[in-house]
Amino acid sequence: MKVEHDITHPVNLPAVASEIPSPVREVLTSYQTRIEKLLLKIGCLEGLETFAFEHSLPHQFLLLLQRAMGLFDESSRFYVNYLRRQGLAVPCQEGCAHCCQNMPAGTSVVELLYLYHGMHQSGVFPRLFRHSFEAEQVLTQLLLLCQDRCGGPLAATAESHRDQVLQLYQRLGNPCSFSRGNLCQLYPYRPFACRLHFSLSPACWCDPRHFQFPHARIINLATSNCVHDALDRIERRLQIHLSEILVCGILELTVNVMQFDPIRWVH
Ligand code: SF4
Repeated sequence: MKVEHDITHPVNLPAVASEIPSPVREVLTSYQTRIEKLLLKIGCLEGLETFAFEHSLPHQFLLLLQRAMGLFDESSRFYVNYLRRQGLAVPCQEGCAHCCQNMPAGTSVVELLYLYHGMHQSGVFPRLFRHSFEAEQVLTQLLLLCQDRCGGPLAATAESHRDQVLQLYQRLGNPCSFSRGNLCQLYPYRPFACRLHFSLSPACWCDPRHFQFPHARIINLATSNCVHDALDRIERRLQIHLSEILVCGILELTVNVMQFDPIRWVH
């Protein structure tokens, strides 16, 4: 069971998890409101429009984004602790990376910028870039395979086709290009989806090749529409558009926009 768990409309979860009491729901909503405010502040900073040409952003952008990411983590910890207090086991822990066999999708430009910054901070940029390039090649092959099956070209951006390719990719059991030894090399910089994803079933069920995988009880805490709107506003001001599939977006940002330069954070 895969669940996109909108905190305002909980769906299809085990009884205890689906009945979020109002005080818990209010806390989760307040986290989203605080995150939205930080993102709106980013959207009002000066100098965003020239990013694609100058490869620089206000240092305040980075500071506000770090605080927003911290709040995402805090809200997840709060919810996981709530579930545990209800007697539900959440097996997610360091060293378990079954969920990193999914190719993250729906990644915003802001998240991609943060990951890109993390790639440069990691000291292993060339390796991470190479792994992203290899993963993108696999996705392209799968897209061609889908085209063959359909007997004609697919619109790669169409959601159903995208999901079809991503599902095929998942079945290959390839780890994410940023995963090494079951650890995320960009953990502090990981996208929202990776911060808001956890399991209520045995950890091994999260492995796409495990026979119980279709029955894994996975929760993805959803981000609110207000947060999405604030992200869209930043994206419009930055005047760049990137693929929402993690490795494709990272490659476009690296090659087409940044030409491998690190982001310059200016005071
Ligand atoms: S970005 Fe990190 S946490 Fe997210 S899927 Fe990749 S390796 Fe896993």
